[in-house]
This record gives sequence, C-alpha cells and structure tokens, in this order.
Amino acid sequence: MATIPFSGVKDGSIDMSSDAFADEALWRAASKAIDYRRSVDDQPLRPDAGYREMLAAVDRPLPLHGLAPPAVIDELSTIAQPGLNGMTGGRFFGWVAGGSHRLGVAADWLTSAWGQNCGNHHAAPSAAAFEEVAGKWLLDILDLPRASSVGFVTGATAANFVCLAAARHALLAEQGWDVESDGLFGAPDISVLVGDDAHASVFSALGFLGLGSKRVTRLATDDAGRMLIRSFHEAIERCTGPVIVIAQAGQINTGAFDPFLKLAEACSRRGSTWLHVDGAFGLWARASHEHADLAKGVEGANSWATDGHKWLQVPYDSGYAIIRDRASHEAAMSISASYLPTSTEQERNPTALVPELSRRARGFATWAMIRHLGRSGIADMVREHCRLARRMARKLAAEPGISILNDVDLNQVIVRFGSAAPDPRADELTHAVVERLQKNGTCFAGGAKWRGRWVMRLSCISCATTERDVDQSVEAIVDTWRSIAAPSGG
Ligand SMILES: *Cc1c(COP(=O)(O)O)cnc(C)c1O
Repeated sequence: MATIPFSGVKDGSIDMSSDAFADEALWRAASKAIDYRRSVDDQPLRPDAGYREMLAAVDRPLPLHGLAPPAVIDELSTIAQPGLNGMTGGRFFGWVAGGSHRLGVAADWLTSAWGQNCGNHHAAPSAAAFEEVAGKWLLDILDLPRASSVGFVTGATAANFVCLAAARHALLAEQGWDVESDGLFGAPDISVLVGDDAHASVFSALGFLGLGSKRVTRLATDDAGRMLIRSFHEAIERCTGPVIVIAQAGQINTGAFDPFLKLAEACSRRGSTWLHVDGAFGLWARASHEHADLAKGVEGANSWATDGHKWLQVPYDSGYAIIRDRASHEAAMSISASYLPTSTEQERNPTALVPELSRRARGFATWAMIRHLGRSGIADMVREHCRLARRMARKLAAEPGISILNDVDLNQVIVRFGSAAPDPRADELTHAVVERLQKNGTCFAGGAKWRGRWVMRLSCISCATTERDVDQSVEAIVDTWRSIAAPSGG
C-alpha cells in the first residue's frame, strides 16, 4: 500500500502517517489542552502578542515537506500560545463571553473525532437526534412554545439571520409572494421596526436579507436601552403593510429587556406582524425563577435568537435559531437535491433549519452541557452570575470617582471613571483605566461607548468566575483607577 512520503522517513522504518502517530497527536492535544486550561488564570488575561506579531510568527513559506502529526500539534501549540487571549479565565469580563466549559470541549472533541456531517438525518442519525432532543430541552429551559423548531447555528448573528429569513418568508407568503423563488425585486414592502439600541448583528442580518440595515425605523429607547412603547405604537400605527418588529432580551451594555408583553400583544392584534427577539444571552434569565420576570411575555414572539457559547458555556461556535412556525423556518432554509432526503413531521432533517448543508454536529456539545448542569444547575449558574455582577457593581461604586451607569438587574455592569456626566476628561480617564487594566492583566474588561460616554463594560457570564475572582478583579480595577487618578501615588 502506498504511503504519503513524509520528510524524515529515510530508512523506511518510521511511517509518520501511521495510526500510532495520529493517535499520539490526539493524546498530545488533550494533554496540552489540560495544561492550558489549568494555567490560564496564572497568566495575564490578555494576549502577550498582538495580531502583527502573531502574523509574523505564523507567516512562513508554504512547507515543501510534511511533518508528523504529534510534531504538528507541538508546533501549532508553541506558535499560537503567545497570541491566545485568556477568554476561559475566571477573571475575564470582556464582551459577553461564556467560558467554553471543559465538559463542552470534551463533547466537542468527540464531535470532531466522530466526523459526522450533520447535513441530514439519514447520513448522521445520532447527530440529528441529539439536536432534536437538545432543542426540546432548550425550549423547556427557556420556556418557549414547545412546538417551535430549533436550528443549530454558529451564534446569535446567524440565528438572527435565520429567524429574520423566516419572518421575511412568512410575511411575503401571506401577501402571495414567494420570496425564495422570486426574490425581493417587485415584492410587497415590509416595514422593519427596531429599537435604537439593538445589537449590530441584527442590522447585518437585515443587510444580508435585502431588507436593508438603514431602511428600518429605529425606535426611541430609555436610559437602559429599552424600546419606548409609545415610540413603538406611534411607528406601527403609521405602517400599512407587513411589519417585522425586532426586540431584544439583554442589551449588550446594560442587560436591559424590551417590554415584550405589550409588544407581543400589539403585534398579534395587528396581524401581518412578526415579532423577533434577539436574546443572545438575556433569554437565559428565563432559566432562573428570580430573573424570569425580566423577560416576561417573550414567549409571545414569533422567533428568538440565542447563543450556546454565552450563558450555556458551550465552546465556540454555538447558537440557536428558534421559530414558532416550523413551516416558515423550513421554507426559508430548505435545500433540495435528488440525493438529499426530505424532512417529515416525524423526522428532523437538521439542514432544513440552517443555511448550511455540510456542517459540524453542534447538538452533541449542547446536549452534553445541559446533561451536565441540568435545569437546576443552569438556574443556579444564571443566578450566581447575576449576584456576582451586583457584588462587583456595589464594591466598585463604593470607591470615590467610580460610577455604575446601569441598574444591575442581570449580569452586565457599565463603569465610568472620573465623572458619570458626559465629559471628555472622564472619557480620557475611562480609556486610560481600561488600557492600563488590560496591560496589567489581572483581569480583562473592555471599553464601549454608551450614551455618548466611554465606559468600561464588565460581563459576568463565565463558568470559571468565582466570588474570589470577582473580588480580586474589583481590587485590580480600583488600584488601577487610583494609580490614574493620583499618579504621584500620594
Ligand atoms: C453576542 C450578541 C450577539 C451576537 O452573537 P454572536 O454569538 O457573536 O454571533 C447578538 N445580539 C446580542 C444581544 C448579543 O449579546
């Protein structure tokens, strides 16, 4: 049997393409992964090397000769390490990022090892069945209509896209227009209403779908970024044809929720109106009794986008497009060919619910995380993250010169240094604190602009975060602030 010639095989005694070598690559990856995860919190929580340095380190000419699998793993790990960000660390509060729980990673390794192409349920029965059941569990945890269909996508960005594609389909089908076949040229108009503080991904989804990111009516919001119901009523009364309303559960800065009860009631009363909710992380408030009321009435929407790689701690990438009307979901996403099976009531064809054909079997890792935590574990985790966020906010606010700009009802905290008012000097100070904190590396937080002011944003959402991490981080933030507010050290 011919083997691929590898460099270094001179005497013919070592066949580097052998099974033993490939197995050794798997073992080595596991051992390096365990070492990395054990030590991540002992390193500064930021990359040591920036993109340019990393590019210089990686950018070598195309190798002429191959390298044995274990050596490739060694090389990959050695080169990549300096440019890794401590996103799985307990004191990482940047963006809104789950902790890629090790159990989820383990399930994801198996997913890769099994090599299932989740393109359809005949080809990959296990992959499809696990998605089906994990999807049902998700509906139960999030308390959404149990007959909804769930597409397993890369994240909330793709989920927003899928949900809005289903909305576009349903509203135009009602007008006798087949958008998948005939496109949007000449189609009846769809009005789109969206809160002014919606996430950027919603606007890109609208762009992909030909609905236009700027062609929307942006609705006024309150201090926390919640849609003002008066602004919504005024806008929808002016609409004549079909309407998509895009609300959100968990504003990216403040964690605030739109008034779903009133929105859902008005949308269902009007008809020809699709209410979509971007609930990337906020929808998970539904898992905790104490927080479920924040998202009260959200079950009245037509579709929901949420993430697995945020509050559920599934490793990247994992998101869910949840749609009440399965037929619209499938109509918007379907693909057909002679060699592909169709889906029936009894048989879930996973590809009918997502844009891709060949793809990763994402249901395994989601199933594993839910199986591990259980309903009560997920509730406890959400509650604990919200408690830790409040603790951080309370401790930070006790320091002169530090203000918290949001009501910490969920897991997000926005912090301002110098003055809470819109003042350029406080912008500079806030910038300086974020920069120095990141350089120092005890914990990681990013900056953002909120209501015309630079702020530090803290997101308490990682399974690795403990109360001790929170207290250490508060100390690091306060010390950094003091070193900037009184640089003499006096
Ligand atoms: C994170 C987030 C998104 C985007 O999700 P991805 O997983 O990055 O695709 C969309 N909306 C909100 C509210 C988010 O927090």
